[in-house]
Order: sequence, then structure tokens, then C-alpha cells
Amino acid sequence: QSLAAGRNVFRFFDPAMQALASQRSALEVELRSAVAQRQFVVHYQPQVTFEGDVVGAEALVRWQHPVKGMVSPALFIPVAEELGLMEEIGHQVLEAICRDLEEWQRGGLGSELVVAVNVSAQEFKVDHFVARFHETIRQHRISSKAVKVELTESMMIDRIDEVIEKMNELKSHDVAISLDDFGTGYSSLSYLGRFPIDQLKIDQSFVRRMQDDAATASIIRSIIMLGQSLGLSIIAEGVETMEQRDLLHAQGCTLYQGYWYGRPMSGEQFTALLEGRQRVA
Ligand code: C2E
Ligand code: MG
Ligand code: MG
Ligand code: MG
Repeated sequence: QSLAAGRNVFRFFDPAMQALASQRSALEVELRSAVAQRQFVVHYQPQVTFEGDVVGAEALVRWQHPVKGMVSPALFIPVAEELGLMEEIGHQVLEAICRDLEEWQRGGLGSELVVAVNVSAQEFKVDHFVARFHETIRQHRISSKAVKVELTESMMIDRIDEVIEKMNELKSHDVAISLDDFGTGYSSLSYLGRFPIDQLKIDQSFVRRMQDDAATASIIRSIIMLGQSLGLSIIAEGVETMEQRDLLHAQGCTLYQGYWYGRPMSGEQFTALLEGRQRVA
């Protein structure tokens, strides 16, 4: 085996490689049928003010696999992107969100509630992305203000003018834009002011290291100051402890999302959470 490993022609018959390759093609087949059979479900993770008011949620997709159960987006989104399936999956996700928002608004729960939806680079670069997005919201008679889009810095590296134009198109429909995983990408600070964004989302990797590492704490402080000076709202993701929340609050962060407040939960669970809040209020 070790001798053969140097020769590409033998590598093909490496049993481990072959097992991987066939697992991968099984996944591809299953993913295509998951799209056809609409096996995706949307979970919601609360977004909360310092005072504890739930102002919204991030929608996070899961694949409800008939045998394997819930499959994480980290496992299937990269494959879905390669297969060109993300546009359709994203559309199904938005439809599910709109149905839930309709229900919450009908039930008098959170008329001010904003649901953040992740949009991947592949979805965003489709020509008719904004038109289709807006049409879906319109069909469900949801206010565009109830939906926010999360984009990542990686989308802002090339074709900047096209990206800005598309963002403006979204904004003209009253859809706000949040910059997800902020600080982990490579976008140039000098360009940041050109993008019509509304919110910076501090990546959870910074929040995780903030207490053990002075440099990370400084980075967080800088991100918050930068956001404030650009007039943006700031939300931190991955807030797991009260100490993290308090430190972020002391630096000027105003919105929080993370296990401390709640794990991503089903639509029914999120409805119950909203109902509970209504009673308390
Ligand atoms: P993201 O947008 O940065 O989402 C945050 C991830 O962090 C979620 O993982 C969430 O469950 C997790 N998380 C939240 N709070 C905490 C915490 O306190 N501690 C820790 N350790 N983790 C926390 P998830 O749900 O597995 O999603 C992973 C990624 O998949 C997302 O990262 C997003 O990039 C992508 N994704 C999820 N749903 C969608 C979708 O509908 N469309 C697209 N295009 N991408 C999606
Ligand atoms: Mg996100
Ligand atoms: Mg994020
Ligand atoms: Mg992240």
C-alpha cells in the first residue's frame, strides 16, 4: 500500500478513498431528493436586547433526513453549493420563514419581530435573486421589514460595484442587511463605508476568546467602535455566558445571540417563547 501510494493510478483503488467517494455520491443523490421532497426545516435562535427583549431571530436551516435525523447545515451546505442546489434550498427556507412570520403576525406575536436569513454567495450572485426574494415576501403579505439578510464579507471582495447595487436593490425593498461573521473575512475597511449595511455581527470566534486574550478583546472593542461610528447596529453571536454578555455590553454592544439565551429551536418552540414573553409583558 505504501509503495503504491506514490502512484496516482493506484490511489484510485485505495479503499478508504473509494469509501469516501461513494459516501459523497450517495450524499449528492440524497440531497437532490431532499430538495424535491422539501426535507428542510428552519430553526430559530433568539436575538435579544440587554434587557432581555426578544427582538428577532436568526433562521438556521436543518436537513430533516428520513433516516439520519437532523443534519447540520455545516455538513450539507458546501455540497449543496457545489451542486448548484443552494438557490432552491434558500428559496424553500425563505418560504418557511414567511409562513412562520404570517402565523406570528396573525397571532399578534411580535409585529416588530425581524427574522434574519442567511444568504450564501452562490444565492446572492444569481441575477434575479432580489426580485425572487422580494416576490416571495410579497406573496406571503409579509412586511419586508420583518426579514433581514445576513451576508458575509467573502461576498464583498470582487465585483464590488455589482454587490453594492444588489444590496441597494434589497434596501429599496426595505430589507435590512447584516454583515455576518464580521472580522473573519478579508474585506477592506476602506470599502466598508461604501456598503449599504445596517448591522455588524461580531463573529463567535472573537466572543469565545475575548476573556482569555487581550488582543481579541481589543478587536471586539474596535469592531464596536467602528460600527458605532458608521451608524450601524451591533450584534454579537455565540454568547454562551452572562460574563460574555456583560463584557460585550460594557463595550457598547446592544444585541446578543447565543446559547446563553437559547439554542436554535423549532418554530413551535419559538412560538411558545414569544407567547411567554407576551404574558410576562
Ligand atoms: P452562522 O450564520 O454564523 O450561524 C451561527 C452558527 O452558530 C449556527 O450554527 C448556530 O447554531 C451556532 N451558534 C449559535 N449560538 C451559539 C453559541 O452560543 N455557541 C456556539 N458554539 N455556537 C452557536 P448552524 O445552525 O450549525 O449553522 C452553521 C452555518 O450554516 C451558519 O453560520 C450559516 O453560515 C450556515 N447556514 C445556516 N442556515 C442557513 C441558510 O438557511 N442558508 C444559508 N445560505 N446558510 C445557512
Ligand atoms: Mg448567520
Ligand atoms: Mg454568524
Ligand atoms: Mg459564525
